[in-house]
Amino acid sequence: MSIALAIFILLPGLALGSFLNVVAARVPLHESIVRPGSHCMTCGKAIVWYDNIPLVSYVVLRGRCRNCGASIGLRYPAVELVTALLASGCVWKFGLHLEVLAAIFFCAVLVAISAADLEHRIVPNVIVLPSAVIVLVAQTALHLSVEWTIAAFAASGFLLLTALLYPGGMGMGDVKLAFLLGAMLGRTVVVAFAAGMVAALVPSIWLLIRHGSKARKMKIPFAPFLALGGVVALFVGKALLDAYLSLL
Ligand SMILES: [Zn+2]
Repeated sequence: MSIALAIFILLPGLALGSFLNVVAARVPLHESIVRPGSHCMTCGKAIVWYDNIPLVSYVVLRGRCRNCGASIGLRYPAVELVTALLASGCVWKFGLHLEVLAAIFFCAVLVAISAADLEHRIVPNVIVLPSAVIVLVAQTALHLSVEWTIAAFAASGFLLLTALLYPGGMGMGDVKLAFLLGAMLGRTVVVAFAAGMVAALVPSIWLLIRHGSKARKMKIPFAPFLALGGVVALFVGKALLDAYLSLL
């Protein structure tokens, strides 16, 4: 049942990803996400519906605008695919429990924030703040506990301290994102931090090898790694935390 439903959810998942692309492209520029309709970011020409089908249109158009030929970033199909897989994964993991809605919403927000941070180097307040409140209320209602509130404040407090101690590293956007992670993940937010930091090591080491000491001044957006950690924790956080605690 869960598997069939998970496959069924792929198509709406792609559509959701398509919407998240619009959110990530426009919200940091303070543009409306409703009007105008989809248009080429280079020539401004409106995109007709058959050129706006998730994944398919990107392949058919070979990643170029039909009107001006400007290349369409690989980010667009990537966001659509990742969103569909995450939505599907949530259904498979949580089944038809109300929690699945919170989980899909959480994943969608993480995708939008990552895409916005990669493209505009900003974690938009209008996305992260209301989402964090919605998730905190939903989790508290679904599982009556103060765990979500405590984890949200502890996680964001920890990153705030890090940001204050090492200015230039972590940004305030990451602090707000940590609040969202804590609200959704509760105690397993520590898994999200650990996974996110390990993942961020990969590009850091790569930069260090390529640019040597100059790499110290180069900034990598941290939000996508925190988001990745958040996804890992959502799906296997409890198992990883239990396994770790049993070692102690
Ligand atoms: Zn164009």
